[in-house]
Amino acid sequence: MWWLFLLVLVAIFLIYCLLPSYWARNRSSRVFREGTGKTTEIYLTFDDGPNPDYTPRLLDILKESQVQATFFIMGRQAKLYPDIVKRITQEGHTVGCHSYSHRHAWLMPPIHTFRDMTRSYKAITLASGVTPEWYRPPWGGFNLLSIAAARRLGLNMAFWSIEAQDWSANTTAEDIYHAVANQAVPGSVIVLHDNQGDPGAPENTLRALPMIIQSLRKKGYSFAGLEQVKGVYHA
Ligand SMILES: [Zn+2]
Repeated sequence: MWWLFLLVLVAIFLIYCLLPSYWARNRSSRVFREGTGKTTEIYLTFDDGPNPDYTPRLLDILKESQVQATFFIMGRQAKLYPDIVKRITQEGHTVGCHSYSHRHAWLMPPIHTFRDMTRSYKAITLASGVTPEWYRPPWGGFNLLSIAAARRLGLNMAFWSIEAQDWSANTTAEDIYHAVANQAVPGSVIVLHDNQGDPGAPENTLRALPMIIQSLRKKGYSFAGLEQVKGVYHA
């Protein structure tokens, strides 16, 4: 009977994990992946923070360059560093939920999926003073109930169209810059990280950021937070 047990496990994995993730990543009209390309806007997004060493310096760079971005915040980090979260919103950036403790949706049973989403939403609302309107799942993984849990809180869902592997300390600032500058098109959603990954990795992201901003500006792009995105993506 072991094969029957295996068959059930495979079926659960397919229905609860793989198909919802594939649907959200590639097909769902409820998930924002990139802009229409009708404007020159580029969306810079920063995941996993805030981090007391990197996020304030990142905010300084954005402020100096007058760039608006989006921060997908972990609820746990919001609880630890509410002042940084507050600064993010005070400086006009968009905040979104990125789970409470970065647990993969495939490892969360249904009740935990709702609990994690609510806990993260509450922690970010309390720290920032505004209600988040966006959700990006850790590692881009959805389960069968993630979308329902996000919609219950009125959260729009966002993926990304360009990632630069900046979570690895082996990716240099130049690598990050080239990955972004070479792939950017109007409407691109760029994911970078201001926390987690390899120790010290966000240092390279910070070094790459001024080069990215300067280069994309030269090509005629402008920068916007996701709150500028209107339309069908709203839950
Ligand atoms: Zn993440």
